Amino acid sequence: MKSGRAIALLPLMLLFAACSANPSTDEAAAQAAIVTPTSAGVSEAPSADQPPADPRVAPAPGTDTPPAAEPAAPPEPATSHVAVKYLIGDIDPSHDPMFARIPDKFQGGTRVWGHKDAVEAFVRMAEDAEANGYKLKIVSAFRSFSDQKQIWEDKWTGKTLVGGKKLNASVPDPKERALKILTYSSMPATSRHHWGTDFDINSIDPKFFNTKDGKHIYDWLVAHAPQYGFCQVYSHKGDPGERTTGYEEEKWHWSYLPVAGWYLKQYPIDVGYDHIKGFLGSEAAPGINVIKTYVQSINPECVQ
Ligand SMILES: [Zn+2]
Repeated sequence: MKSGRAIALLPLMLLFAACSANPSTDEAAAQAAIVTPTSAGVSEAPSADQPPADPRVAPAPGTDTPPAAEPAAPPEPATSHVAVKYLIGDIDPSHDPMFARIPDKFQGGTRVWGHKDAVEAFVRMAEDAEANGYKLKIVSAFRSFSDQKQIWEDKWTGKTLVGGKKLNASVPDPKERALKILTYSSMPATSRHHWGTDFDINSIDPKFFNTKDGKHIYDWLVAHAPQYGFCQVYSHKGDPGERTTGYEEEKWHWSYLPVAGWYLKQYPIDVGYDHIKGFLGSEAAPGINVIKTYVQSINPECVQ
């Protein structure tokens, strides 16, 4: 009786094993849509929209990327997109299971939330760095639309000086004033900090990276951060093969590509100029073509 039942169950077990081992692309895409997360950040299993947990083993983009041998895929269907609110910072990370708090010892400022996969990878990197005598701290991580609006408008109105000047007085033309702020700061709805995947490490002062300590840290990051999935998206620009538009070089800003790579692909599909509004100077965004010339202008080595 016992062995008879086992034999009867065998075909079912085989069928289950086959389905588990070979989820179809459609199934993977459907699972990738579930980013408003029912699976909280503590799960051991990688979610379908994410790569394996260890980017050193597979620093590859998300599972929705076709194999390299296949021709470029058309834009992803809407059902596999992360909700647009994640692309424009319209969330509260303290109540969103896709986000995790940066451990206290690695905090270097008041922005202490990041995408849980990015935080996990950063902690692994920072612990390895520490074991080798390098201290990494995150001085800025996730920023919401309203956080970015505050930063932007403080520069727009002259409350925060830009290049030592009050831009409201020194640059009256809206487009020119926006371009000045865009040297280092994003318009609300266009910052990679909205995604929680990008971290400013140790300092946001360009001069720091000319000091001995700054060079020391930067050289370590250049040599090792890619092993943990991080890439310096705002690289040097202007020389052959480099970026031609966008923000100035930011040696402090590192992006966790296994998530940010596919967010960037989705961004121009889901976000338009009707999202980039609701702040002072937003009328300048379309004329500057801010999505193409800033959001999409990243280090070619970070493009996936
Ligand atoms: Zn940054």
